[in-house]
Amino acid sequence: AGKDVVLQLDDLSVSYGNIAAVKGLSMTVYTGEIVCLIGSNGAGKSTTLRTISGLLKPKHGDVVFKGRKINGIPGHEVVKLGICQSPEGRKIFQRMTVSENLDLGAFTRNDTEQIAQDRERVLELFPRLRERINQKAGTMSGGEQQMLAVARALLGNPSLLLLDEPSMGLAPVLVDVIFETIQTIRDQGTTVLLVEQNALAALEIADYAYVLESGHLNMEGPAAQLLNDDSVAAAYLGG
Ligand code: ATP
Repeated sequence: AGKDVVLQLDDLSVSYGNIAAVKGLSMTVYTGEIVCLIGSNGAGKSTTLRTISGLLKPKHGDVVFKGRKINGIPGHEVVKLGICQSPEGRKIFQRMTVSENLDLGAFTRNDTEQIAQDRERVLELFPRLRERINQKAGTMSGGEQQMLAVARALLGNPSLLLLDEPSMGLAPVLVDVIFETIQTIRDQGTTVLLVEQNALAALEIADYAYVLESGHLNMEGPAAQLLNDDSVAAAYLGG
């Protein structure tokens, strides 16, 4: 059987006023894969994620999720359809506990038993969060807050998880933990679209990769192939 397409971007262009941030981007994400989007600062990676999650409207082109055009659908509806984004820059609720943050991740749902199971699943993925379940999120380390951000997104029970720079600001050992966990999440059946500055770490765990440059698609291919590409190495992997 052929692979199922979960998300398709079709000639997508997104602007902020007169500033074109994404220019004619086409991408395909297959079910069960980790797809990464890499590129330098300002390449348009976050803009692409924000457009998929319904926070921005495309100027041109389409976002197609499970065969349905979703451009223009508001963010909370996109969550209900099964696309959840880990909050950028660790925008979790600092004054709430870990437990309360996880509850909020499930706010669009009413399947109580399944929510309890998903909560157990994320606490198994991130044992550190279980230890800190009643701690105020804002008092945790940066790495723990990043784990909570990913965990909270998983409580939305996404079929597509969007991660914006999960390794940002983390010590190398925690970067390894986060990236291993992302692989586990994929292995448990959740498709992941990963945006990363840390191109090396992203390519090492991804199945397929897209390289953005100044809003344009510069290159795409199986992640293993890009890892061995000299031009990718020179531009994004520190030579
Ligand atoms: P980074 O890794 O630095 O976050 P990125 O690849 O995620 O980069 P975007 O944040 O998507 O890039 O930005 C793409 C372009 O759009 C940049 O030129 C940026 O300056 C511009 N841009 C982003 N957000 C806004 C905004 N709210 N208003 C105006 N321009 C914006």
